[in-house]
Amino acid sequence: MHVLILGGTTEARRLAELLDGTPGLVVTTSLAGRVASPRLPPGEVRAGGFGGIEGLTAWLRQHRVGALVDATHPFAGTMSLHAARAAATARVPLLALRRPGWVPVEGDDWHEADSLAQAAALLPALGRRVFLTTGRMGLAAFADLDALWFLVRSVDAPEGPRPARMETLLDRGPFTLDGERELLGRHRIDVLVTKDSGGAATAPKLTAAREAGLPVLVIRRPPIPEGVPIATAPERAAHWIEDQRAGGPAHGTDDRAPTRTGRPEARRVGD
Ligand code: NAP
Repeated sequence: MHVLILGGTTEARRLAELLDGTPGLVVTTSLAGRVASPRLPPGEVRAGGFGGIEGLTAWLRQHRVGALVDATHPFAGTMSLHAARAAATARVPLLALRRPGWVPVEGDDWHEADSLAQAAALLPALGRRVFLTTGRMGLAAFADLDALWFLVRSVDAPEGPRPARMETLLDRGPFTLDGERELLGRHRIDVLVTKDSGGAATAPKLTAAREAGLPVLVIRRPPIPEGVPIATAPERAAHWIEDQRAGGPAHGTDDRAPTRTGRPEARRVGD
């Protein structure tokens, strides 16, 4: 069976590692091709967009894909929507592999926004020296905030419109709590902006912000397309693939348990 993993995340790489060497399984990981030197998973790797829903549908058919795993980043909402539409048209079983979102704990001072634009509108009321960790894409949303200073951390250098007063820090997680404490102190940060990416690798900034009594502006995740089953760990996704090969569900997936915050119940790890 041919499995296509839509990747670009640690979980996607981990799933490819788990499936690597399984007899009778061909695994291809697809990357968007945005990062200059990505960490590559085992198995086949392809890079670049498919050409929308139609392009992905054609790819699934042409390569006789028997199972599709959308293991893209929780904020890659367009790709997830395309995956849902293409899988339905090509009649390929689809699973979303999503690490759980973060949830606030006692002492956190979280403010939530539904988009980068909304975060930019809320930001001036929260602080003046901003640690912006939402990635190099979308900096344009903050470009008009001339009264604020930004420390922007990203894997590759930002391009395009961006804030006038900013410093760039090129780095890739995992990050340590000591490192994050030091960074907040050295740059006299008074507000943190983050996507609700979840996972342990980038969670220490939340702890460091809580310790320092700083407000955190959290961008909420886009929804997963209706009807797509979810696994919250690569091991569960590997079981789901086994089930597809066996012709039916034996292990099941992680149901989305509604919580106070509307997100799957999850504890933040890494504290
Ligand atoms: P997006 O806005 O949802 O997708 C935009 C377009 O990029 C898609 O329509 C598709 O082009 C192409 N694309 C996205 N992911 C792809 C993949 N895995 N393989 C092939 N084409 C892909 O995505 P994004 O937010 O720009 O993220 C791009 C990639 O970076 C994803 O793989 C994601 O896992 C990773 N990533 C994203 C974030 C984030 O914060 N958004 C953070 C870390 C990593 P076509 O329509 O031409 O097929």
